[in-house]
Amino acid sequence: MPSAAETFVPMPQGLTGEEVAARRAEAGWNELPRPPRDGPLRVLLRQFTGLLVLILIAAAGIALALGETVDAIAIGLVVALNGILGFVQEWRAENALEALRSMLSPSVLVIRDGEERVIPARELVPGDLVVLAAGDRVPADVELVASTELRADESVLTGESLPVHKTAGAAEDAGRLLAGTAVAAGRGQGVVIAIGTETAFGRIAELTGSLGRKRTHLQVQLAKLAQQLGLAALLIAAAIIALGAAVGRPLFEMFMTGLSLAVAMVPEGLPAVVTITLALGASAMARRKALARRLQAAETLGAASVICTDKTGTLTENKMTATRIWTPAATYKVTGTGYDPAGHIARDGQVVRAEGDPALAALLDTALTCTHAHLRRADGAWEMIGAPTEGALVTLAYKGWAPLPDPDAQVAETPFSSERKRMSVLSRSADGHVLHVKGAPEVVLEHCIDLRSGADAQPLTEATRAEVLDAYQAMAAEGLRVIALAARAAAPGDMDESGLTLLGLIGLIDPPRPEVRQAIAGARAAGIRVIVITGDSAVTAAAIAAELGMEQPRCVEGAELEAISDAALEEMLEGDVLFARTLPEHKMRIVAALQARGQIVAMTGDGVNDAPALKRADIGIAMGIRGTDVSKDASDLVLLDDNFATIVAAIAEGRRQFDNVAKFVRYLLASNAGEVIAIVVNLIVGGPLIFLATQILWMNLVTDGVTAVALGLEKGERGQMERPPRKRDAPILGLGGLGLIVAFGCYTAGASLWLFYTMLPLGEDIARTVAFTGMVVFEKVSVFAFRSLREPCWRIGWFSNPFLLLALGVTLALQVLAITWPPLQLLLHTTTPRLEHLGLVALLALPLIIVPELIKSLRPRHRAAEA
Ligand code: ATP
Repeated sequence: MPSAAETFVPMPQGLTGEEVAARRAEAGWNELPRPPRDGPLRVLLRQFTGLLVLILIAAAGIALALGETVDAIAIGLVVALNGILGFVQEWRAENALEALRSMLSPSVLVIRDGEERVIPARELVPGDLVVLAAGDRVPADVELVASTELRADESVLTGESLPVHKTAGAAEDAGRLLAGTAVAAGRGQGVVIAIGTETAFGRIAELTGSLGRKRTHLQVQLAKLAQQLGLAALLIAAAIIALGAAVGRPLFEMFMTGLSLAVAMVPEGLPAVVTITLALGASAMARRKALARRLQAAETLGAASVICTDKTGTLTENKMTATRIWTPAATYKVTGTGYDPAGHIARDGQVVRAEGDPALAALLDTALTCTHAHLRRADGAWEMIGAPTEGALVTLAYKGWAPLPDPDAQVAETPFSSERKRMSVLSRSADGHVLHVKGAPEVVLEHCIDLRSGADAQPLTEATRAEVLDAYQAMAAEGLRVIALAARAAAPGDMDESGLTLLGLIGLIDPPRPEVRQAIAGARAAGIRVIVITGDSAVTAAAIAAELGMEQPRCVEGAELEAISDAALEEMLEGDVLFARTLPEHKMRIVAALQARGQIVAMTGDGVNDAPALKRADIGIAMGIRGTDVSKDASDLVLLDDNFATIVAAIAEGRRQFDNVAKFVRYLLASNAGEVIAIVVNLIVGGPLIFLATQILWMNLVTDGVTAVALGLEKGERGQMERPPRKRDAPILGLGGLGLIVAFGCYTAGASLWLFYTMLPLGEDIARTVAFTGMVVFEKVSVFAFRSLREPCWRIGWFSNPFLLLALGVTLALQVLAITWPPLQLLLHTTTPRLEHLGLVALLALPLIIVPELIKSLRPRHRAAEA
């Protein structure tokens, strides 16, 4: 057991600004050299390593060897163009992710020039005085100068999973916190002894937060699809070459046909398009204040079916103001807002101060002593440093003109934790030592034996206990957060939190965030349940839930939760339920029970002990402002504004991204299907090649990818948050999707074949040019049908995705060049068609726009919503 004699030290001055500058000049920044990022050249080279690209390069070589120079150059050019497009996309994605990574850098509380301030951890210099508390990552090697019940989780360095006790003044590592480890419990103050590469283990690299480079489920699924199609394509191509050779067709022609088919079958652009869509999506989420730590987050978020949220700071503002005081002798009202001490305490309408009211004076003395918060006046405005609950109590004491205790008088502390729900401080005074305790009323009351009424104490009886509880319930029913304060005379070193005298209760208002009410309604409309899990009391939580328009839930307290079986819990979770007075480990059980019911759970957390539940949840959500470093490390998503409404916005963004991936997967495959069907039917008919290999490469590599990326930028659909969440294992491509692909493929293939055979009497080149142009135009215009799988374009707005219009404009212009500009004509073996041929193409393209619009318009809207 740690000894209670571990001491507070009075707040020393820390380094001055000049000292910091001098030390920085000498020691540099507190950072490790980052693993070098792939440079542009490397990213560019990476574009030329895929199997298909290698085959194409080989094909260009073969063509060259056979004297088909033009084909060789054409293949080479298309490969180069494809590489450049891939490079631009990947580089953009990398930069977007890099920007997000830098937003994850940690900060630390230091004392400089006698003032506490929060600075980025990289700005620490040796000699800095830092304050570390439970949940903080240790940003540098620190020699402790003061500690209270401090334990460090050093598992990253030693593999030892049990937290190690650390004490100021102890020898070697027992008196030191090492960079990269985390504070598991307690508080400590220490001097930085080494930074950056000089730290014992130099592990702070991990601090900068790694945005997982692992591929997401979707990326893996789609890469697999592309791979399977690729393999099938190669086999079919080999079979065609063999067959052609067997029946005596020219080998090079058959080789090129096989290659064309392989190229037509493989959706080359798919993996790159998914990556760029997810990366741009992550940037869009960050703009909405949700920072994805893993790309997977957006994808899973889109499928979330339950959000488990805490209350304080997520549903509420976490800007506490004491509005009510209850003591056994009197009740008081408090005026003023925020942390500005301008306000007063009134008893029966009369303003009172600590001086003239001993009961109030005792209460406020404990509020000021048993705290880490303090107020500071900066540029005329009041600023609070510390936890909002404590800040509100300190502000209250200022309003009551309570004398400020001597900071040197605080001699020991048992810190607050969500498990203990209370904290105590031993202070020295002229009359001896006093133990001050504050915490959740029922917890504090359990340790009280009497209560202070006026100047004296009277024993706590059944009747007076009931009176206290009534006063507590009455405040809580108004949505106030209630803190009880108690104290007793103690011997030096005596931290035993029993035999206390209750001094009174303080009610703090923590208003619900205004935007949350609508967000909760939005979540409900989207088929997502919201379950509040809070450490606060059931009555307070239920009052806040009601204010936010939630169904009157069944309130279950942590103690009750512990008593019921898993089966009973699962059943309980079917209905509207709220969990109060919970411990962090309860969250774990609730997540597991929900997952056992097949739910996809998003869970918020901010404390050290929330980390396991955050890891277990499908989407762990940490709080950017009040969350501990440990909770952030365990999370998939960090809310930059701690706001519940941001979760719902992020879910909408996740749904949008998944929808868009589903759209361009269908679009790309439908384009490829058309080409494959046309080539295979043509082979069966036995006519001349409908498309040349280089033309297919042009269609697939140059024009399709750009359009698909633009489709990935489609805005969220109107009904997107009115649908129930998608099932966890719902495939990206279902039967309906396959049907759509085949339908489009059959039409575009049929139309191109018709064009080809109608034109054939005019010559092979012109027939091929028109069929080739037809296919490109059909593919381009069919994109309108895939902009929404439910809504017609006239409802979503023809011009609402400018990127798509731009992509279409550019690709169609390229196609005009391909058939009119002599150098491209030479490479792609095209000739300039007559205008009426192009008119024919346009006419055949029209149904691709009109028919899907008609079907979607005529389909009843509720059916459309189910699609
Ligand atoms: P949520 O879990 O929704 O964030 P919470 O902030 O109330 O709610 P905890 O931080 O676990 O959850 O606090 C639990 C209870 O402990 C509070 O309701 C309050 O009564 C008490 N409490 C909170 N902060 C302090 C503190 N600094 N000192 C003493 N008691 C505290």
